[in-house]
Amino acid sequence: VTTVGVLPPDVRYVDAHCHIDLFADPTATMRSAREQAIAIVAMTNTPSVFRRMEQLACEFDNVFCALGLHPELVAERHRELPLFNELAAETAFIGEIGMDGAKGRAELPRQRRALDEMLAACRPGRKHILSVHSRRASADILEAIAPGFPGIVILHWFSGSLAQAQVAAERGWFFSVNLAMTRSQSGKTLISRLPRDRVLTESDGPILLSEGRRGGPADVVSVVEYLGAAWGVGREEAREQVLHNFERCLRASHASAP
Ligand code: MN
Repeated sequence: VTTVGVLPPDVRYVDAHCHIDLFADPTATMRSAREQAIAIVAMTNTPSVFRRMEQLACEFDNVFCALGLHPELVAERHRELPLFNELAAETAFIGEIGMDGAKGRAELPRQRRALDEMLAACRPGRKHILSVHSRRASADILEAIAPGFPGIVILHWFSGSLAQAQVAAERGWFFSVNLAMTRSQSGKTLISRLPRDRVLTESDGPILLSEGRRGGPADVVSVVEYLGAAWGVGREEAREQVLHNFERCLRASHASAP
């Protein structure tokens, strides 16, 4: 495991948003991804599981552990914010954080306060790489993470409007796209509009996909294949583009490391 973001030289693919700790067998999942040369950014949904994720990943050079507090867990777990503040200095990777308005807007003010606190914890010393959830709250996220925010922002499974995507792209933000997005009309339309140099791939595994199987890191190979066709460049060029985009995130983060 690495917290500074050094990519093994043989890595070919990136899963920029995966919940390794929620798989039935996290070690087997990471081992299989290593064999397929897939780098993984392993989300955590609450700060108290970050250390355990680090332990799980300690033998894997392709896994980066991210520190997170999922917006849907803010109400229950906001007492872990001090722990988030403490751990934020130790890792370049943050996620899953964000806001979620799918169950109504009542929880959004509390989610916003927690997000503001976590963003403030990210400022000192280094540029963090953030994987951000924004379901039914894309306008809120564009407001919460101000244009000059000194970190690398990756919008995970973005489902806001094309206009909002454009605003995010103009700010230099990235987008991690997954298999579900390549199979929905809105997702396909979004992907067709994104600047290619801002596109990353993700699985959001082990979420249940529509056809009854669970997502996992290997999904990113199919996503890359889709991107190759959508961009009209073929699979290999799309793979290189996505990997290059992820390397740019890592370099931007390194350049600021203490
Ligand atoms: Mn997720």
